[in-house]
Amino acid sequence: MTKSSDRHCIFCGKAPEAKNLEHPLPRWLLALTGDPNRVVRHGLNWKTGEVIEFAFDSLRFPSCRACNSDYAPLEEATKPIIKALIRKEAVSPRDYVVLLDWLDKVRIGLWLGYRYLMGALTPPSFTINTRVGMKDRMVAVYTIGDHQQGLNVWGAETPLFHIKPSVFALRIENTLLLNCSWDWMCSSRCGYPYPRDVRHSVERTGFLVATSYKARKRITHPIMPGLMKSCATVFQPIIHEGSQRVMHSGDFQYHLLNSWPDRANIGPLFRQFDGETIQIDEDGEPLVFDSVSLKEARRTINIATQAYSLQNESVTRDPILDEDGCVVRPNSGFMRTAAQFNRKKLTMLRGTTPEQYAAMREQIDADRAEKQLRKRSKHNAL
Ligand SMILES: [Zn+2]
Repeated sequence: MTKSSDRHCIFCGKAPEAKNLEHPLPRWLLALTGDPNRVVRHGLNWKTGEVIEFAFDSLRFPSCRACNSDYAPLEEATKPIIKALIRKEAVSPRDYVVLLDWLDKVRIGLWLGYRYLMGALTPPSFTINTRVGMKDRMVAVYTIGDHQQGLNVWGAETPLFHIKPSVFALRIENTLLLNCSWDWMCSSRCGYPYPRDVRHSVERTGFLVATSYKARKRITHPIMPGLMKSCATVFQPIIHEGSQRVMHSGDFQYHLLNSWPDRANIGPLFRQFDGETIQIDEDGEPLVFDSVSLKEARRTINIATQAYSLQNESVTRDPILDEDGCVVRPNSGFMRTAAQFNRKKLTMLRGTTPEQYAAMREQIDADRAEKQLRKRSKHNAL
């Protein structure tokens, strides 16, 4: 969209070969959720404060033709999974791994897209190709009522996401996906090998040196405390490339025994319930939605804005961050301002009464009326 974006393919980061355009939010998803040409807000330009508004379909960035077609099978595989989730159907463990790959792709695609929109001049330190399936990840699936239409993104517009694209939320019709991914986000609590010491390399700028690996080989429940009750929440730890060299051989053997089929560095899935977390077998039963009672149900906006609080959390858990090779300390003025932006946005959004909330209230009222009616007819029958 801008000159700087023309220089890099969104997938490989090189000058695009046989250039075409990639939609970080794919066209099939735009069409599934409404008119692809609808004009929507894409956040504020931090420099000018202006609202960025344009057609969904115009949110597209240069890519190589070959890179783009490499990801076509992932898009094809994801489409029926999203449709099944919207229908509240159970989805297989293997499909959840496809979904996690796709969410990595969308999250990083949006990050690159928003960088360009905000006028970033430096080349990105990573691209879709170097980030899909590379770091611990999770998705929490929420059903937010029946008759919901449209597509919303939360979290991709924040300064913190610009530095560290680790968390976002995507609402597709009646389904909200909360997606997080950062270094060793869940390894430790999944019982997987994790480094107890992480430092920045003095020899190679932007590289981390992770040592003193340990695997507990048992689950610590909950993997991620404080999440609002979902229909399904799954985690997947991922081994960093090359880390087996500094790991105890027993811990690496543990990974080999548990690794995801045909994916060298990727560990198994873990499903977090209210009272326990269990490891999921790759050929296991499809994951039936956990029921969420009216008492446990939260406002859509509250569920979605977990993206802002989790972005802040992901930063406080990292000792030092990298922004395109530059070291950023979490207690720096810039980081404090970025975290404050998220806190303010979360408070503002949770203070607003959105349409979704009204719909849920209606549902609650209807359920309550139905319950009372049932109670009354039962009473009359006696
Ligand atoms: Zn490319």
